[in-house]
Amino acid sequence: MRERIATALLAAALLAGLAPARTAAEDPAKVPERYQWNLADVYPSDAAWQKAKDALAERAKELPKFKGTLGTSARRLKDCLDLAFELRREDARLSTYASQKSDLDVRNASALAMRQSMTPFEADLAAKMAWINPEILALPEAKLAAFLKEEPGLVPYKPVIEDIVRLRKHTLGAEGERVLADASLVMDTPDSVYSVFADADIPRATLTLSTGETVRLDAAAYTQYRAVPDRWDRERVFDAFFGNLNAYRGTFGALLNAEVKKDLFRAKARKYDNGGKDAVGSCLASALGGPNIPPEVYHNLIRNVHKNLPYLHKYLRLRQRMMDLPELRYSDLYASIVKEVDQKYTVDQAMDLTLKAVAPLGRDYVEVLSKGFQSRWVDFYPYEGKHSGAYSNGAAYDVHPFMLLNFNGTFEDVSTLAHEAGHTMHSYYSNKSQPFATSDYTIFVAEVASTFNENLLMDYMLKHTDDDAVKLFLLGNYVDGIRQTLFRQTQFAEFELKIHERVEKGEALTGDELNKIYKGIIDEYYGAGQGLTAIAPACYAEWAYIPHFYYNYYVYSYATSLTASTALSQMVLQGKPGAVEAYRKFLSLGSSMPPIEELKVAGVDLTTDAPFDITMRAMDKAMDDMQAILDRMEKNRKK
Ligand SMILES: [Zn+2]
Repeated sequence: MRERIATALLAAALLAGLAPARTAAEDPAKVPERYQWNLADVYPSDAAWQKAKDALAERAKELPKFKGTLGTSARRLKDCLDLAFELRREDARLSTYASQKSDLDVRNASALAMRQSMTPFEADLAAKMAWINPEILALPEAKLAAFLKEEPGLVPYKPVIEDIVRLRKHTLGAEGERVLADASLVMDTPDSVYSVFADADIPRATLTLSTGETVRLDAAAYTQYRAVPDRWDRERVFDAFFGNLNAYRGTFGALLNAEVKKDLFRAKARKYDNGGKDAVGSCLASALGGPNIPPEVYHNLIRNVHKNLPYLHKYLRLRQRMMDLPELRYSDLYASIVKEVDQKYTVDQAMDLTLKAVAPLGRDYVEVLSKGFQSRWVDFYPYEGKHSGAYSNGAAYDVHPFMLLNFNGTFEDVSTLAHEAGHTMHSYYSNKSQPFATSDYTIFVAEVASTFNENLLMDYMLKHTDDDAVKLFLLGNYVDGIRQTLFRQTQFAEFELKIHERVEKGEALTGDELNKIYKGIIDEYYGAGQGLTAIAPACYAEWAYIPHFYYNYYVYSYATSLTASTALSQMVLQGKPGAVEAYRKFLSLGSSMPPIEELKVAGVDLTTDAPFDITMRAMDKAMDDMQAILDRMEKNRKK
């Protein structure tokens, strides 16, 4: 299941852990069928689902007979993998039906029971397969290579086998793996204590705003009130919220120190030293090793964002102009600078706009998506009891992808449709082109196809309106998306790298030290030394507010995805020869290649400056367009 994990427009809300906005519920009985899922495409009935599940459980009983025999012949290995992936394929279909049925109405007890029954079912299936990877791993590399040469039926599994072999030197013997598994029982302690403390136990400041409203500043209230129109209220909200975190920086520091030490323990245990290039025990190499991302991608991101800070500074000056402020403060960064356009769209208009926006990707792309829209791949409307938010799910390999929306008619809802359609078409082409074993694309590339489509929609909308207010709204959102996703997430990524490097060198992190490191980074990003932004001292404890620092190098991928999709969509929109074909090829790759290589096929190399340069040019042009509109508006006012 792929939730909408990061989009230009929503990244901020997600970071803050905001619940999706509440939506007005429709009555499903009154909504035309064509706007609702047809789950009968997956199984014709609950009874058919149950029958398939029983058959799968029966078939799984054949697995143990392969145990201990994978090295006997290429044919034997192939037969075992055929069975294992056949089971997974049917399991994904079963799970799709049960979870989506339950998502339509979380109060539906029988659907919930179906969904819940999948948990022990899948645990049992996983347990039955748990021996396969270690047994493949134990085979000599030369033997595996000979098997792959000899048996054409093994070709679909080549990337899978190669990935198991790639991780060989980071896999311990049975005893070592057992110790690590036992240790993991205590290793999530810093994260769980952080959650309990930051989300519940920490005493909260209360504040009376200029409106007379008194608010208790927990994290949800902070995200709500940091954007209030009165700037002195905003400043006080920042001061109170971060001042409170700052008061507990000792505890937060001890927790984060423990978390980073845990990462180092794991990196050392799994022998990650990045070929001796990084310190012995490289947390970065360890975190990026699983998904197979070269650490160079991470360093390149930080280097390029630094190089391009003048664009962020230009943005800050633009924001200051639009807010008409004598000086910009850190607490001014969330207030809206563009007026929401109250244009409403119907579902039919949203589908039409999305199809027109993706036209640069070719007729076939448009036709498949159009057919999907007409064939009930999407469940559009919010109902009482329906799962909130939006997602695309392409796990049912033999069926087709599905999209869940809670469509209320805003532009953001149209953009969400384009976003989820991006995931869906990525799944569609990968499922169609790849064998099941390599059909599911990785998290690292997942948000490229979705945000790519958001960019196409933005471009289409800009080209088809001459209303300056609408243009300003679209451009403002676009630029702010780059600021929040590329600059802000990299600011976090840089902090993460710095604190891990400290611990790798044997230094301890305290709350004071973490404040100092954070200050060094945000002062530079926001030009505090150049008088661009005034930052109140309490804000240097912002790190204590970010739960992602307990996710072990995760946020950077928001920034790399957005850079890749912005650069790729620019190439397509500017008509670069071969750009469409390259991007379409990428959509069909599933997980058949390492993620960075897949993106090279698409046309971007994230170890180079090029995608960042293209993204910055796009941001710069959008800011210039905004300035021109503002100049025009000012002139008109003076007339
Ligand atoms: Zn997404």
